[in-house]
Amino acid sequence: MKKSINTFLKHTAKDFHNQSVNPPVVRASTIIFKSLQDIRKMQKKYKKDPRGGHFDYGRQGTSTTHILQKILSELEESYHTFLTPTGFGSVFLAIFSVVRPGDEILVADPVYFPTRLFTETFLKDFKIKTKFYNPHDLKTISRNISNKTKLIFVECPGSNTFEFQDLSKIIKIAKRKKVFTVIDNTWATPYFFKPIKLGFDMSIVSATKYYSGHSDVMGGSLAVNKKAFKLVEKTNKITGLRLSPDDAYLILRGLRTLDIRLEKHQANAKKVAAFLSKNKKVTLLYPYKKDSFNFRMWKKYFKGASGLMGLRIKAKNKSSIKKFVNSLKLFGYGYSWGGFESLALHQEIVERGNRNYLNLKKDEHIVRLHIGLEDPKDLINDLKNAMKYIR
Ligand SMILES: *Cc1c(COP(=O)(O)O)cnc(C)c1O
Repeated sequence: MKKSINTFLKHTAKDFHNQSVNPPVVRASTIIFKSLQDIRKMQKKYKKDPRGGHFDYGRQGTSTTHILQKILSELEESYHTFLTPTGFGSVFLAIFSVVRPGDEILVADPVYFPTRLFTETFLKDFKIKTKFYNPHDLKTISRNISNKTKLIFVECPGSNTFEFQDLSKIIKIAKRKKVFTVIDNTWATPYFFKPIKLGFDMSIVSATKYYSGHSDVMGGSLAVNKKAFKLVEKTNKITGLRLSPDDAYLILRGLRTLDIRLEKHQANAKKVAAFLSKNKKVTLLYPYKKDSFNFRMWKKYFKGASGLMGLRIKAKNKSSIKKFVNSLKLFGYGYSWGGFESLALHQEIVERGNRNYLNLKKDEHIVRLHIGLEDPKDLINDLKNAMKYIR
């Protein structure tokens, strides 16, 4: 019987484990066999079916992490899903699976800042050159792609400035040039958009955010198609990246309510966006106004929008932006997002000009809001009160 993903997420344990409602947390380094022949038998099985949950040592995972892998592969509609201790671990794994010294990669200009830092420092030291493309002008891809380019790294929407991109076009260019594609899909998760189905080779989600949903665990997932599988599997083994079974369990627990939480984040964010769209000082960086390119690209590829948005605020007085975010009572001030709670962050890094293609004027500021699961009326009142400080 074909089930909807909403039902699937509720019945995850039942489908893969038939005793307790929840799967056991299996912690292991050593796995005991009856004989050396039995170890060899297991290794043969692994060779034949490396996705099948055949383990001879804890670094490969345990039944707990295997269940999470199966669930995420179903959600992503991917060939396989690798797990890493953080979301950034998946960024690292994806890039190092395909690039070698002398190669080049093309990266979305508004990429998550640590990813950008990684390309500009670490990759540079390894003689891997990074070029950035303009998410709203894909000629900057065609112009910068060469026979040294091995990977296009997309993030959609872009971090902090939320650019939505014409993803099929990017995939088409990459396929013509035989270049791998990876997307950081943390904002939407495969609940709202399935990159592997569209044609991406790899898809990253920071499980720290909406998968876990409770701001109490870190993890990452890298879903792959058949073409990327072997390369990533080899790199995964060599790097020794591994998600702990306890963290996998917490992420599994979060996934049960992924659909319910995301729908509520979306509903709350829409209400907050409706309120913010009336303010003349604020440009919403969120798919809300129907007349924009961003909205059309979002509508073309995404089934919904999550709770993370940006505000581009006009204010002569920079300290008034600080006063605005500091005066919020219900929005916590801190990193990360995707948990049940609302957060605000003044993105000074973006304002300092670490972008190739962002024209931010001196009196423009970026504030990121994560709209949590609180009553949206309270969130709007909190914002209304704090926004009067913006000058
Ligand atoms: C948070 C985040 C990451 C990194 O995830 P961690 O689990 O914090 O390492 C990567 N990409 C995006 C878009 C993120 O927001």
